[in-house]
This record gives sequence, structure tokens and C-alpha cells, in this order.
Amino acid sequence: MSTSSLLADVGAGTPPIEAFLDEAVQRRVDGVVVAAVDVPDRMLEPLLTSGAQVVTVGSPRHGTSTDVVSSDDERIAADAVAYLHSRGHRNLGIISGPVRVAPGSARLDGYRQALRDHGLRPFYLRGVFTSAGGLCGRRSVGVDQAVRVDARVVNVLSSSVSGDLVVVGAGIVGASVAYHAARAGAAVTLVDAGRPGGGVTADSFAWVGASGVRKGPAAGLRATATAEYHRLGAELPGLPVTWSGSLSWTGQDSAPDAGPGQTIVDAATVAALEPALRRPPEWAVWAPGDGAVDSVGVAERLVAAARAHGARVHLDARVTAVRRDAAGRIAGVETAAGLLSGATVVLAAGVATAALGASLGVRVPVEPSPSPLFRLRAPAGLVRTVVNTEDFDLRQVAADRLIAAADSPERTLAAVRSTFHGAGGVELLSTRLGARPMPADGEPIVGPVAEVPGLYLAVMHSAVTLAAAVGRLVARELVDGTVESALSGCRPDRF
Ligand SMILES: Cc1cc2nc3c(=O)[nH]c(=O)nc-3n(C[C@H](O)[C@H](O)[C@H](O)COP(=O)(O)OP(=O)(O)OC[C@H]3O[C@@H](n4cnc5c(N)ncnc54)[C@H](O)[C@@H]3O)c2cc1C
Repeated sequence: MSTSSLLADVGAGTPPIEAFLDEAVQRRVDGVVVAAVDVPDRMLEPLLTSGAQVVTVGSPRHGTSTDVVSSDDERIAADAVAYLHSRGHRNLGIISGPVRVAPGSARLDGYRQALRDHGLRPFYLRGVFTSAGGLCGRRSVGVDQAVRVDARVVNVLSSSVSGDLVVVGAGIVGASVAYHAARAGAAVTLVDAGRPGGGVTADSFAWVGASGVRKGPAAGLRATATAEYHRLGAELPGLPVTWSGSLSWTGQDSAPDAGPGQTIVDAATVAALEPALRRPPEWAVWAPGDGAVDSVGVAERLVAAARAHGARVHLDARVTAVRRDAAGRIAGVETAAGLLSGATVVLAAGVATAALGASLGVRVPVEPSPSPLFRLRAPAGLVRTVVNTEDFDLRQVAADRLIAAADSPERTLAAVRSTFHGAGGVELLSTRLGARPMPADGEPIVGPVAEVPGLYLAVMHSAVTLAAAVGRLVARELVDGTVESALSGCRPDRF
């Protein structure tokens, strides 16, 4: 069976809704989702009598038998008032939508009642549900001229989530989400059982390498990874990122095709890039845009910056439960130090995300995937780029230190000594076994959980590479209410 979709914008300046509904009847569509607020029942009659299924969004219909997906607009407006009141605001206006449609009148009712409950004087303007309507309303109350416009306040009713945000996990993912959300104006609480970056982030090889990725649901996201780190580096001076490029080769005779951001280089070029190599390979994949980070340093910097933007940070505070209210919505998280309230909880707890989700009846298909990291003492300047071979991933992290991600310490030592001149004295300093959070299909799990309103997941492999991009996009979804297409292949409901 093949399916097709028709999408029509019936807003101002576009063909009227009647034209679209006529076309839908002509084309004998199976079903229509009506997401416009202002559609009289009579307009839907021809569609319903044609046998099409109709679902309306946000606008209960009294004269027809259509199914409706709607939000509790009265409660939303009351919650928005309560939230602003709790933040110390007392002069609260509303630019309502048209009151002849349900969301407009319900929000106005909720707002008026909440103002009365708080002993405040209502002040409202009728508007329309368009950007122009909002702007017009703002101008007529003098907001733009008289008061600093606070994006949090302007966006309270249109955001996909409301209320304070609790981020569980100050690994590189949670730290990035907390920083970006706090910077965007959200009231953020970040909580971790240990210290920033103290989970698997501390055991990472931390190569920021997205070159060569061509396909997969997160290809678009990965393609932006290095550019997002450059952006983050500009926002946070001193961010510990090194743009060394990466060199990869195998024992095969012929080189692969170069992917995006890569070139194939010959032995002479490899020797120039890595002068200590004993036998430079005939070919290598050179990705000059790749780099690496001090992953704990980045997590710490992000947490410090989140604090500077007003985030409350609770370290050494294990989350023991995620709380829901009587209606099943997220209410916050429980720690030994008490309840941390929040209408939205982001689980960015790495491998622990699965257990925290399970406590809410939510399956998060993430397993720990163990991978060793070796620290080696080595002469200064032995390795200059990120080197990736069949034996190891290797890079220099300090004048006398290398790190290697590989399978066995003995084989790694032997391979490093035989690959580079002057490496006879390289010694193993430590071995760590990190548990990488590995989603069942290898792709990031990022997005809201439909069954638990207010719950949002952010867990993935290669999270060091993806952290800057994911943090910004998640914050946009949570704070601005956008739906980021770069995350569309990462949604939890694909399982
Ligand atoms: C050897 C190795 C090499 C790697 N190489 C790379 C690489 O080159 N490039 C790359 O991109 N990725 C690499 N990775 C993967 C990368 O390190 C991880 O994807 C990333 O660190 C995951 O970050 P995270 O924030 O999701 O998890 P974590 O760093 O584990 O953070 C989760 C946080 O949640 C906290 N937490 C857990 N449970 C609770 C609770 N109940 N209450 C409160 N807090 C809680 C933990 O204390 C922890 O701080 C490598 C991993 C390993 C092991």
C-alpha cells in the first residue's frame, strides 16, 4: 500500500481553508488532520460525508463527531501565571487569541481566574494567533519601548514544555543541555551523582570526528558536530579543544573514497603530518577538520557556564526517583537532599538512563558497552594528529602523555613502539574500562517521551562529538518549543 500526504497552510495570505477542504474531498483522502483553530463545523461536513476520518487539533468541536487532540488551555494559562508569580513577577498581562475560538477563550479564563487567585489585576488585549498579532499586541501595550522583553515570558504559552527544567547527569551531554538551556533563559537545575564529567566522559578518547559520515538517521546532526564545537569555543573562551586533524589508515592496498571533509593523502604527506612514523602508509584518510577535546574539561566548563547563566547545580546528589504529579506529569526528581522540582526532566544519565526510565515504566533501549582506554608515558611530540589504525586510536594529550583506545594493553604498547621512532621507552600508566551508553540501534535517543508528559531523553554514543550540537538543539526544543528536524531520526518512539 502506498501513502501520500497533503500539507496545506491555510493562514493569512494563503488559499482559504475551503479551497483545501474541497481539494481533499476531490482527491478522496482517507483522513485529514485539521490543525487550524478557526474552522466552523459546517466546513467539515462535506469531508465527513465523503467518509474521510477527521481529527482536529486544539479545538473541540461541538457539532461534529470528529476526534480531538487538545490541550488544557485554561490550566496552561493558570500555570503560566503561577510560574511567573513564583518568579516574582506581579504585573502580568496577556495578549490572548480570538475569544470566539476555544483556545483563546479558555486561556483568557484561566489567566483571569489565576490573577484573581493571586489578588492581582488582570490586564489583557485580544489578539490573533499569529506573529503579527503578538507583535501588534506588544507594541500597543508599549512592551517593546517600556520594558526589557524577556523571551521566557513572551514564550510561556507557546513553549512545548513549561516550568523549570531539571537535567539529570552532568556528563558531557547533560552539561551541554544545561548550559544551552540556561543560556536561552530557562530556569535550570542540574543534578549529578558525582562530579561533572565523572561518568564515562572521563574515560573517553574524545575524538571530535564527524568527517566521512554520509548516511544514517543522525547524519545531518553529525555533519554539524565540528562546526558546533567552533561555535561553542567562541561562546566559551578557553574551551579545551584541539583542532589537530585526524589520519586513518588500514593495511589494505587501495584507499577508500574520501567522504565529506576528508582527502586521501600519500605517504609523503602522511610523513609530513606524523614525522615520527617509521613506515608511513602508502595512503591515509586525512580529515583536517577533526579534533579532540579534554572531555572532562569541557563538561566542567559547560557546568560553570550554566551556573553563570543562573543554573542551580547539585553535585554528589544521586537521583533516587523521578516524581510525577496526580495527572501523571513530571513534577521533579527525588534526591537524598530532597525533591528538586521541575515540570520537565531531561534524563542525560548515560548508562543509568535505562534504569531511571524503567522506574517510570519507560523502556530506554541503552546497554553499557565496555571499552578500554590506556594512558601512556611517551616522549613529547611523538604523535601530532588523531591517529586511527587497526591497532589503536592514539593521540597526545600532554607533552609526555598519550591516550589510546584499543583492545589490549600489551598489544597496544607493542604496536606504538613499533609504529613510531623513539617510542622504545613508551610505558603504560593506567587502564580504564569505560561503559559507553550504547543505544540498541547505535543511533542517538533524543526527544520527549509521549507517555510521560514532561520527560525528555538525551542519551547516545559518540556523545563527545555530538555534545555541542545536541545541547543546542535540545535547548531549542525545550525552551523555544521548536521541533528540530536534525533530531527527527533520533526520537525515542522509533523503538
Ligand atoms: C574508551 C572510550 C573511547 C571513546 N571515544 C570516543 C570518541 O573518540 N568520541 C566520542 O564522541 N565518544 C567517544 N566515547 C563515547 C563517549 O565517551 C560517551 O558517548 C560520552 O562520554 C557519554 O556522555 P554522557 O554525558 O551521556 O554520559 P556520562 O559521562 O556517563 O554522564 C552521565 C552522568 O549521569 C550521572 N548519573 C547517573 N545516574 C545518576 C543518578 N541516578 N542521579 C544523578 N546522576 C546520575 C553520572 O554520575 C554521570 O556523570 C568513548 C568512550 C570510551 C569508553
